[in-house]
Formats: sequence, structure tokens, C-alpha cells
Amino acid sequence: MPVMAYDLTDRIAFVTGAASGIGRASAVLLAEAGATVHCADRDEVGLRETVSAIARAGGAAHPHPLDVSDRGSVEAAVEAAASDSGRLDILAAVAGIMHSSPVLETRDEDLDRVLAVNFKGVLYACQAVARSMIATGTAGSIVTMASGAVDTGGPGLLCYGVTKAAVFQLTKTLATEVGPHGIRVNAVAPGWIRTPMTERHNNSEAQAHTAALMSRMSPLGRVGAPEEIAHAVLHLASDAAAFTTGQILRPNGGVAMPW
Ligand code: NAP
Repeated sequence: MPVMAYDLTDRIAFVTGAASGIGRASAVLLAEAGATVHCADRDEVGLRETVSAIARAGGAAHPHPLDVSDRGSVEAAVEAAASDSGRLDILAAVAGIMHSSPVLETRDEDLDRVLAVNFKGVLYACQAVARSMIATGTAGSIVTMASGAVDTGGPGLLCYGVTKAAVFQLTKTLATEVGPHGIRVNAVAPGWIRTPMTERHNNSEAQAHTAALMSRMSPLGRVGAPEEIAHAVLHLASDAAAFTTGQILRPNGGVAMPW
């Protein structure tokens, strides 16, 4: 019975950021657990690779190219997915971007760009999917992607951390508002995970330093893998977390505030 709680057979999921890293690992794992997965991302090549990987493994997946920072683009994709599958049971709002600049050098356009993707992008998806769940009377699960950066702070993390703190607030507030409909809303706040995003930033000396620091500060002595975060998403999306809402799950290797 405990293992059955993770079974997502007949569930319909919508996953943003599904072309890469944590979003791809989450889409693949939700499909392995039995869900039909609507995969959304702006990277159409990566999106096709994710959908093909799920299909090769015998799962069901559909691609939705979209820009999460464009409300109309998100609403159209969510509507198409819900109409195709009849309802949506799960949202994993994973798409995001990194930005690093010292506070004293941060420009308006940096803040606006990161807010548009990491906060408004998650907000638009939550709004569209929650409205769809309410309209179909679906007691679904919404999982947002925050970050351990909110807990640790760190040099250069102002814009990124502000957007992820906003995701914390969105998660807790929305959980209180849609709970009466049976809809749960939780966030995952990962520590440092090896993905294309962090690999790109590892080119800079400061980010390589951060990865090494995070490994040293973790009692486990390492950074994480996308699949380890996908399991946190699966847990919150599934009936195993039926009495969990408004929470922040922190798969971060035990890193607190290493500065
Ligand atoms: P990733 O490998 O770069 O994957 C992110 C995906 O989101 C990419 O396919 C990216 O496309 C897509 N995306 C970005 N902006 C988009 C937009 N406007 N519309 C649609 N899709 C968009 O990154 P990741 O490391 O897996 O990160 C996934 C999430 O986890 C992010 O929210 C990130 O903040 C969070 N997170 C990551 C870590 C970590 O250490 N990796 C830690 C904590 C939290 P492009 O490649 O075209 O940009």
C-alpha cells in the first residue's frame, strides 16, 4: 500500500522546464510512475528529446513549446493540455533561469528579466492550472520550484534569490486559497544540482567556487543530481503527500548557510 501511493496511473501532469535538467528528470519520472505528461519549454529541441525518451520507455508525453514569461503563451498551452486530456491533476512549475550579479552592479533589466521567468512564469502556470483544476473539480497537486538560495543567500544571488523567495510566498498563499477545493500546493527548494544551468555557470570562477563550497558544506560531501529532485517532485505530486500542503521541501544535501 505505501508504494501504491506513488502510482500516478491515469493522472495527467503538466511540467514546465521539461526540456532540460530538473524539469526533464521530473517529466520522465512522473511518466515512469504512470502519468501522461504534457511537457512544456521554450527549448523545442530539448522538448522533443524529452518526449521521445518518455515514449521510448513506453510512457505518454506531449510537447508544448511556450514562453513561461508570456501569460498568453502559458494559458494557451495549459488550455490545450487540459482539453486534450480532459483535466490536469498535477503541475510541476520548474522552468527557470539563473542570474548572478553583485548587488551594487545589478540593473533594473536584470531584475525584470529574472522576475519575469522565475516568478511570473510560475505564477501564470499556477493560475492557469489551478483555474482548470477548479473548473473540472479536480483535487490536484501543484509543485513549484524554489531554491535553497533563499536559505543560504550568497554573493551574486540577489535577483535569483528574490524570485525564489517570491515563489515561497506564492506557494504558501495559493495553498491557503485553493485548499478548500482539495488542491495542494508545495514547493521544492533544491540545493546545488548538477544540470546544464549550473554547468553553464561553472565556467565562471565564482560559480565553480560555490559548487565546491556546497559539496564541502554538505554532510553528504557532494552536490545533487536532477533525478534526486525529481523524486521530491514525485513525492509532492502523489497521494503519498495527501496531507502535505503549503510546505517547502528542501532536498539540499543538508547544506544550511555556509558563508
Ligand atoms: P536548466 O537545465 O537550465 O533547465 C531549465 C529549463 O527551463 C531549460 O530548458 C530552459 O530553456 C527552460 N526555460 C527557461 N526560461 C524559460 C521560459 N521563459 N519559458 C520556457 N522555458 C524556459 O535548469 P535546472 O538547473 O534544471 O533548473 C530547473 C529549475 O530548478 C529552475 O527553476 C532553477 O531555478 C531551479 N533550481 C535549480 C538548482 C540547480 O542547482 N540546478 C537549484 C535550485 C533550484 P533554455 O535552456 O532555453 O533557457
